[in-house]
Amino acid sequence: MDASSIISPLNDAQRLAVSAPSQAMLVLAGAGSGKTRVLVHRIAWHLRINRLSPQNILAVTFTNKAAREMRNRVEDLLNISARSMWIGTFHGLAHRLLRQHAKQAKLPETFQVMDSDDQLRIVKRLLKAMNIDDTKWPPKQVQWFINAQKEEGIRARHMADNGDFFHRQMLAVYKAYEELCDRSGLVDFAELLLRAHELLRDNDDLLNFYRQRFQQVHVDEFQDTNTIQYAWLRLLTEGNDNLFVVGDDDQSIYGWRGAKIENIFSFQRHYPGHQVVRLEQNYRSSGHILKAANILIANNDSRMGKELWTEAGEGELLSLYAAFNEQDEAYFVVEKIRQWVRDGGLRSDVAILYRSNAQSRQFEERLMTTGTPYRVYGGLRFFERMEIKNALAYLRLSANPHDDASFERVVNTPTRGIGAKTLDDMRILAREQALSLWQASIAMLDQNRLPARAATALRGFLNLIVQLGKDTEGFALYETVKHVVEASGLIDLYKKEKQDKGETRVENLEELVNAAKLFDYDSENAENMSELDLFLTHAALEAGEMQADSDEDCVQLMTLHSAKGLEFKLVFMVGMEEGLFPSQQATDDPGRLQEERRLCYVGITRAMQQLYLTYAESRRLYGKDSYPRPSRFLKEIPAEAIHEIRMRANVSRPVASVGTPTTKLGSTGKYRLGQSVRHEKFGEGVVLQTEGEGEQERVQINFRNAGIKWLMLAYAKLDTV
Ligand code: ATP
Ligand code: MG
Repeated sequence: MDASSIISPLNDAQRLAVSAPSQAMLVLAGAGSGKTRVLVHRIAWHLRINRLSPQNILAVTFTNKAAREMRNRVEDLLNISARSMWIGTFHGLAHRLLRQHAKQAKLPETFQVMDSDDQLRIVKRLLKAMNIDDTKWPPKQVQWFINAQKEEGIRARHMADNGDFFHRQMLAVYKAYEELCDRSGLVDFAELLLRAHELLRDNDDLLNFYRQRFQQVHVDEFQDTNTIQYAWLRLLTEGNDNLFVVGDDDQSIYGWRGAKIENIFSFQRHYPGHQVVRLEQNYRSSGHILKAANILIANNDSRMGKELWTEAGEGELLSLYAAFNEQDEAYFVVEKIRQWVRDGGLRSDVAILYRSNAQSRQFEERLMTTGTPYRVYGGLRFFERMEIKNALAYLRLSANPHDDASFERVVNTPTRGIGAKTLDDMRILAREQALSLWQASIAMLDQNRLPARAATALRGFLNLIVQLGKDTEGFALYETVKHVVEASGLIDLYKKEKQDKGETRVENLEELVNAAKLFDYDSENAENMSELDLFLTHAALEAGEMQADSDEDCVQLMTLHSAKGLEFKLVFMVGMEEGLFPSQQATDDPGRLQEERRLCYVGITRAMQQLYLTYAESRRLYGKDSYPRPSRFLKEIPAEAIHEIRMRANVSRPVASVGTPTTKLGSTGKYRLGQSVRHEKFGEGVVLQTEGEGEQERVQINFRNAGIKWLMLAYAKLDTV
């Protein structure tokens, strides 16, 4: 493999970026223009042409999935093993650093990563212990405050009391929270980044070591880095000018989580010798899709300004479907997917993208009913399910008894008679004497401060945890997990739970054992971590990656946010409604509205061949009914790029004018749209749409009692009413 074969699959601008001499580089380009491809080939270039070893490469991507893909692509391109290359997410890499240098990072070797749920639990507990009114200082807001400070690199001790009472309380909780985490060996997501930054900043030897090791540093999706992530990159590269970043200001969608588009400008200031490369050809989407994206995003101001073009033809028009309600929407989408599969398409080439996780349920139900395999990324993810978190908490505690979040979680699950009073006393003692809950329990038992029954119960719990650790010594990971879910009493607990729910929970616990069995323990790159530690970290960082058999061909469900960087042949953007997308909070904040529009741009540009946009005229979400208006983004897309598929029971306009090539609407000869019919089994209903011809002709009917159904006209016994 020589230079020409690395750059031959690239266009001129891409070649320029890939083969440039070592220098700071900014590739600024729109969606689908090959930024990620450039990054992969740049790494290959360094390895093969500049003779760097994989160890000398650092690459930051946006998801673990993207990181794996990048590694594979480099390996395929060069036919080498790139295992020793540091490639991952900011959080994953920060975690790796902290594990390797726990002591210098002032962390216990056994520190545990907690997710945002655990974090919220701790905040709630602190508010209670500190007697702070949680209606005035809502736990979520406190959590947000803490994370926002950390993302800016600000510790509680850096913050001055500004005289405001509200602020003073926030600060007090932040401080108490930091103390508690230190005491329990707990690290939240924002802390991973902040601590990794401090580690390098405050240890010159370490910093020099890594600056020498990582001769080339690469970042994908640079527009979504936050302050502390960028500061970390600067520590590693400033002065060496070896930072290579690719990004798109139009795809910055994490401002609400502290991401700074401004980092693109800062980069240009901090690396004065940098080169900028712009890519303008889009290789992903067909013409209409690209045009829709270009025109939509032009509604934003203060853009760096790019226009994409494609050599691909115009392709299919975008399709727009107005559903009656969320069920009809799911029905429509799943039918289209089934059609796609019948026509020979792969399910894994199809994505359903939504604004909010709660929207996935309707689609999941419909996919399940029709026996269509699917996979949900994010949302109520496998590792976030209650029973799984309980099992993980037992595992965590057996590895580190001072993990307060886990202690809280399972001390009384299954119930073992440890009352609220005992727990309150324990928390107070822990807080007063700066102990972990584990230590506080032991102290209370030693001092005979508990009534006999409570003492027995608590002692039983402590013994159980110690015993779990002893019993599983020398076990393989999956044996440990299996033993812990059984011996903790969790399996029995859920077996007793009634109906399907308990059964599902037991199945999920079994799936956890399975996940442990399949867990890919890469001992070479494990740093000092045990297999269990690595598995637990994986659970915290990579939630959701193991819930479906990844070999199976399945439809992909995810939020618009998690679709960033990915591409699919067939894309459905669902719930295109005011109040949902753009979200309610964004509708009266111009800055946020622009971020929502960028999110819409991200969504549209995921589609390669076909894009469906859907909205519902009535929607039940979070237990509330609403009658939303179609999203303003729909109006911003040029009408001539959109094909409207409209099928309403009470159409008020001539049906003939809304026919589409894929779905024939209106009169079928026998049935009119909106016509009332009666079926001998399903009762009365209204014709919604018809499809196919002759023998294959099918009609969709909304039955008053039986819901929406498709029937083959040749067989259905229908009477007109
Ligand atoms: P996003 O902004 O969405 O992350 P991107 O700029 O990173 O997009 P890529 O994912 O790298 O774009 O590329 C988009 C698609 O175009 C991929 O399928 C990629 O393989 C293909 N592609 C990129 N460059 C070329 C090229 N020069 N020739 C052929 N195909 C290309
Ligand atoms: Mg990309």
